[in-house]
Amino acid sequence: MSVVIKEVKCAHALTRGSFNGELSINPYIGCSHACVYCYARFMKRFTTHEGDWGSFIDIKTNIADVLADEVKKLRSKDKVIYLGTATDPYQPIEKFYKLTRKILEILGGIENKVRIMTKSHLVLRDLDIIKANPNIGVNVTVNNLNEKWTMLTEPKASSLNKRLDAIKRLSDNGVDVCVMMGPWWPYVSDAEKLIPLVKHLGARSLFTESVNTKRDNFNGVERILQKFYPKLAPKMKNILFEEDSFNKFYESEEKKIREIAAQNSLPIDFKFKRD
Ligand code: SF4
Repeated sequence: MSVVIKEVKCAHALTRGSFNGELSINPYIGCSHACVYCYARFMKRFTTHEGDWGSFIDIKTNIADVLADEVKKLRSKDKVIYLGTATDPYQPIEKFYKLTRKILEILGGIENKVRIMTKSHLVLRDLDIIKANPNIGVNVTVNNLNEKWTMLTEPKASSLNKRLDAIKRLSDNGVDVCVMMGPWWPYVSDAEKLIPLVKHLGARSLFTESVNTKRDNFNGVERILQKFYPKLAPKMKNILFEEDSFNKFYESEEKKIREIAAQNSLPIDFKFKRD
């Protein structure tokens, strides 16, 4: 899929009330990682693009300058700033624009805690800034250990091995890494394998959430299920779309995940909720 790139100017860098009700920064609109379940695809309506999610990126070329002004006036020092709630700040175009790096240079100088959200190995490019600023932590998404499922559902993000390597190298350098184990896929995500592995690699905490099937978020997953996993399709859909099955599955998974996280001394937050 070719990607249409457009440079735009932004009026604001920090926005409120998105992930966890905290502050967020998104240097790009759109994301070429093109995850089939991406919840941020609704952002397309704020652009002029007509292509599918993953086929366009708007580059907020002035975002670092805008942010530098905003942080001077920032009063809420206790709010966490999430970098990449509706785009991956380390998608491939970041190699050229370096907006995320410029943003980190500014955020390293303020008191607020900062969490970078990514599925990309490119985060290691900025290890020098990240490890020098204890207020900056990194949330890396790994929601399963099945290469084929990951390649089909997160086609342009870094491979599983590269993400696991990023977790290790960040952790080895003293960076606070949270593993985002979401969405938690029925029949695919496996707590018994995943949690001890990321603990071994140095992760300090976990987060997980159920699959969001709102609006058109599930259409791409449905296509993959029908094409590559026709037997799994009805079983997964039964859990995700039938209220009783959903509740039973996620209650049971939560209990198991809590136990395994506790055995591995990893704090965990859950967002298992039917949309
Ligand atoms: S990396 Fe994140 S923002 Fe980008 S497509 Fe995937 S889920 Fe969406």
